[in-house]
Amino acid sequence: MTERVLTGDRVTGKLHLGHYAGSLQNRVHLQDQYESLVFLADVQALTTHFERQEQIRTNIREMTLDYLSVGIDPEKSTIFIQSMIPEIAELTVYFSMFVSVNTLRHNPTIKAESQGRGLDELYYGFLGYPVSQAADIAICKATIIPVGDDQLPHLELARKIVRRFNELYQPILVEPQAMISNTPRLVGTDGNAKMSKSLGNAIELDSSAEDIAYRIKRAVTDPARVHKNDPGHPEICPIYAYHRAFGPDQLTEIREGCERGTMGCTACKERITLTLEKLIAPMRERRAFYASRPHLVDDILMTGTKYTRGIASATMKEVREAMSLDHF
Ligand code: ATP
Ligand code: MG
Repeated sequence: MTERVLTGDRVTGKLHLGHYAGSLQNRVHLQDQYESLVFLADVQALTTHFERQEQIRTNIREMTLDYLSVGIDPEKSTIFIQSMIPEIAELTVYFSMFVSVNTLRHNPTIKAESQGRGLDELYYGFLGYPVSQAADIAICKATIIPVGDDQLPHLELARKIVRRFNELYQPILVEPQAMISNTPRLVGTDGNAKMSKSLGNAIELDSSAEDIAYRIKRAVTDPARVHKNDPGHPEICPIYAYHRAFGPDQLTEIREGCERGTMGCTACKERITLTLEKLIAPMRERRAFYASRPHLVDDILMTGTKYTRGIASATMKEVREAMSLDHF
């Protein structure tokens, strides 16, 4: 069987180092080996942003620039817009017939993301977004899904849904596999376990050198280190996590310097600022290239969406036949 790689990102803001470490880096590698599709999850963004639809429109172009800037190559990867493939919505409806409400309510990621919301504020579309994710994947017959670890419960559900569909009707859908990176969850600059668009604790991929320096300067470190020479605990420090994710060659030196109290937080932060600048500088160049060619960006999106629509309608033809919904 030929592998097909698929991933999407909610169109809720610019992409950041967490996306890069958790997923984008793998996508860039995989596009050389496998057919790869990447999509702008604007429908899924609506699950929390249904009153901010204008923001979604602007974010689509910005996030496409993010993709292109990290090296997702339109010659190798297909980039498409989720809402422009209405077949996904159709498959979501069919899947939703055999997914129980409790399966969704007890999903750990849904639980974490809906914390504090009572049933009156827990929207049907939000609760069901893992079902629509399963439809995104199944409609493309994707086999490899490079994601951060918050997505593992959703991938498990997608596998279950595909299996159930294949048992109930005909074995036409394909079970996907999650692919987890070396950094399955990158910590935020505030020390929160997850760097996230919605939490305001991110370093964005379009940051200027000044932005990077500013974000790093303000980032929390080990609170036990009051004086420069106090021994630190790298394992609890976000800066150390960034060194591990983006500058592994310096890691031993950084860890020893921190634990022995011979390298202060300021010096350690200067090091990571340089490392990140080296990582982001080439992204800035690629971004500038595409940002000055908006028609090219539109073309990439239109071509990718049209291509994916072909895949989706072929799958839906099979789905309707399998479900005896091919009435004419
Ligand atoms: P939102 O707050 O809008 O949900 P998000 O930052 O969680 O934003 P998503 O669009 O939900 O971003 O996630 C896109 C992909 O990036 C997923 O595969 C997710 O696991 C991965 N990802 C997001 N944040 C991180 C992170 N901090 N570390 C590793 N992977 C991440
Ligand atoms: Mg998310």
